[in-house]
Amino acid sequence: MIKILNHFFISGFILYSLPLSAEEALNRQELDHKFGTIPNHYHLPKTPFDTDDIPSVALKTNAKSSDVLPVYRMTPTTYFFYGNIAEVDENNRGFNANAGFIVTSEGVVVIDSLGSPLLGERMISTIKQVTDKPIKYLIITHNHPDHSYGAIAFKKLGGVKIIGHKETIKYIRSGRVEHSVDYRKTFIEKDMQGFEPVVPDIMIGGELYSKTRITLGDHHFDIYNTGSHHSFGDLIVHQVEENFVWISDLAFNNRTTYMADGNSKHAIEVENWLLKTFKNAELMIPGHGSMQTPDFPMVKKTRDYIQRLRDRMAEAIENDVDLQTAVDHTDFPNWKDVPLYELNHKKNIDFVYREMEQELF
Ligand SMILES: [Zn+2]
Repeated sequence: MIKILNHFFISGFILYSLPLSAEEALNRQELDHKFGTIPNHYHLPKTPFDTDDIPSVALKTNAKSSDVLPVYRMTPTTYFFYGNIAEVDENNRGFNANAGFIVTSEGVVVIDSLGSPLLGERMISTIKQVTDKPIKYLIITHNHPDHSYGAIAFKKLGGVKIIGHKETIKYIRSGRVEHSVDYRKTFIEKDMQGFEPVVPDIMIGGELYSKTRITLGDHHFDIYNTGSHHSFGDLIVHQVEENFVWISDLAFNNRTTYMADGNSKHAIEVENWLLKTFKNAELMIPGHGSMQTPDFPMVKKTRDYIQRLRDRMAEAIENDVDLQTAVDHTDFPNWKDVPLYELNHKKNIDFVYREMEQELF
């Protein structure tokens, strides 16, 4: 595998050249908020590995489900959709997380489904341009909108077993789905048509770090239950033959992390488990940002950010600093240039402050 990767590094990365309309880059409206995708600036990094060069892919508003998406061919069998580092907006239309697929000898395994039913359909069209083999599995790493709202397209396709965390049920019943669907519709109403929350056919749960193996043709996928560190229930996928690890939103690369549904203490424990368990992995593929080769600095960086926030909030609470003062005065200057810091950091402070209050009292 190292040989294959080296080949790609040396020869320059191959961006699988599927036809993309020039319209994708034209006639964009101005940004609705400053954490979105830059319109009229169509850009895909040369490589999706170990790079700070981030994509800016503005999708056309009138796209059809048959329109393919840009996709990177990582190895002869593994493909990667490199999402924008942004909040959902009218330009990226929910293409603001990563996803991918693996073509095995018996069919296709998809990992995550992007952020709208239309994007799910466009993923399917892209896969069909690459292979005639049927799509057999869709693994949803976690139930957040940017990773799971395309799942309905795979369900409607038929013949696809959808795998998710058992706590997906809790998420679907939480009222958060309705709220996030309404929010998305303010930007991309048409793309959200036909949306339904998808109950997985195969639910992953059990002991923390227990694994479930899926075998398809010449490929094995070990799916680990990593508990609730970022969402109601999170999964990590080890693509065994290539030794790639799809780490979901356990760590972000080139994007400030976001804590809302998970648990910061548990996130740090799982990050340490990941670094130990998969120290010999060839690649780690995050839910946001470029993938990384060893020794996976994004995982350490995300972990250290969360630890620093926990330490600072513990200190604030011990010194009777109130929540609003903590939110207003806890800056991490060396994080300021990391995308989405302005948007996420204050929310993270608020979340971790409340967690620490519970832990300390
Ligand atoms: Zn995400």
